[in-house]
Amino acid sequence: MSFEQLDQHVIVQGLCVRCGLCVGVCPVLALGFNDDGYPQLIGKCTGCEFCNSCCPGGDVDFPALSRRVYGVDYDPLSLQGYVENMYVAYPGDSAVREAGASGGLVTGLLLYLLAKKKIDGAVVAGMDPEKPYCTKGVLATTAEEIIAAARSKYSVTPSMDVLQLLRRSKGRFAVVGLPCQIQGLRKLEKVDSGLSAKIYCLFGLYCHCNLERNAPKEAIEVKGIDLADVARFDFRGGAWPGRFQVTKKDGAVISLYSINPTTVLNVLFRLYGAKRCFLCVDALAEYADLSFGDFWAHDYTGILAEMERCTLVSQRTQTGASLLQEAVADGAIILQRLPEERASKRILNMARGKKQKAWAQLISRAGDNEAIPRYHFDIPEPSSKAKRCLFMYFFYSLLRGIRLRKFILKIFFSPVGGVIDYLNLRRKRWFCNYHGN
Ligand SMILES: Cc1cc2nc3c(=O)[nH]c(=O)nc-3n(C[C@H](O)[C@H](O)[C@H](O)COP(=O)(O)OP(=O)(O)OC[C@H]3O[C@@H](n4cnc5c(N)ncnc54)[C@H](O)[C@@H]3O)c2cc1C
Repeated sequence: MSFEQLDQHVIVQGLCVRCGLCVGVCPVLALGFNDDGYPQLIGKCTGCEFCNSCCPGGDVDFPALSRRVYGVDYDPLSLQGYVENMYVAYPGDSAVREAGASGGLVTGLLLYLLAKKKIDGAVVAGMDPEKPYCTKGVLATTAEEIIAAARSKYSVTPSMDVLQLLRRSKGRFAVVGLPCQIQGLRKLEKVDSGLSAKIYCLFGLYCHCNLERNAPKEAIEVKGIDLADVARFDFRGGAWPGRFQVTKKDGAVISLYSINPTTVLNVLFRLYGAKRCFLCVDALAEYADLSFGDFWAHDYTGILAEMERCTLVSQRTQTGASLLQEAVADGAIILQRLPEERASKRILNMARGKKQKAWAQLISRAGDNEAIPRYHFDIPEPSSKAKRCLFMYFFYSLLRGIRLRKFILKIFFSPVGGVIDYLNLRRKRWFCNYHGN
């Protein structure tokens, strides 16, 4: 199987997740990216099959992965996948906590592993120095580089191309990735044991959707900022929980909007959500050693209500359990167990919504004879709400023309956005049942 076949069966069919793994594993460096982050041939393909065999875009055998990684059967109805323990946690160093997107736990654990010499570096996501509003994969080998790459990058980042550097480096590394990337890395274990043996642990991020690569650029343009003046772009800049923020070359720092960041992100996901994400059935990085997400203390009562600015972590493997245990014993992190009955309703709602909507999309596409990824389990019947969402996707797709989507962003960045945001927050308080758990 050559890259040409990957192109025909996955990329042309709209199934590529843009994880970057094919570029990262190609032994003859024959692949690169186009501007949208899709892989393309830049050299001579030898037909070695590495790219096809690791690709999570067209085929992920969830039942086989569950048996191999955890020794359990895959349950498509399980919202979280196999989890041994859930925690709410943060790093002991308050500067690291501040540097992170939610509680800075991912960064804190990477720094801990580096200091303990258990890893020689980590595959993370950073910003492109040439185009500071574009993301890219980074191999961070120093504490400074790990901290510089902290916080979430909410646009497609094919960061697994960095595996090329791992192949040529000595030592062991942590890899941070989205659910699709973690699935590909699990496939890699069967394909290239030499390369995968260099990976010490897999850190997955919860992910309900990702944005197209042009989203930050257009948001900056809508705000009337010249792209040439941009020195730095942050998806979660400024005070926690953070907003899209530009630092200009003259030092001026500009927040692109002042309203609730979740409202804006929800609008952005409708206008710029990567279409392949709508076919993904893994919300919580189900095959990572540890998976991480936002913890919102204001949804809770009691001691958990005091744990604002923390990271929620799902511990899935023994590797993950030992790492957390050692980091706690050494005082590097502070951990609070989250009993099952107090699981985050917000996260479970997110996972349920993502899975249900993906099932509806998969069934609909299959009915229309469009290509769908093979997940090796029978797709369950989606809820009627998820089916209704199919119509909403069609509606949102009508809003995705460049002029209309920029116009809608402009409204949300203006005072009118504040009014819509206020009403939306009220609606959530009244109708979304995740507060007070
Ligand atoms: C696209 C996306 C969607 C998400 N959706 C949700 C959600 O719906 N609900 C939820 O609870 N949490 C979601 N998260 C996770 C959340 O934003 C935080 O990343 C998580 O809570 C960890 O926080 P932290 O402070 O511990 O991480 P930090 O200490 O800030 O470290 C984050 C690490 O992740 C790396 N990283 C950032 N972006 C990417 C990326 N795109 N690809 C690969 N690596 C990356 C960084 O380089 C850094 O090493 C999402 C993250 C992303 C990137």
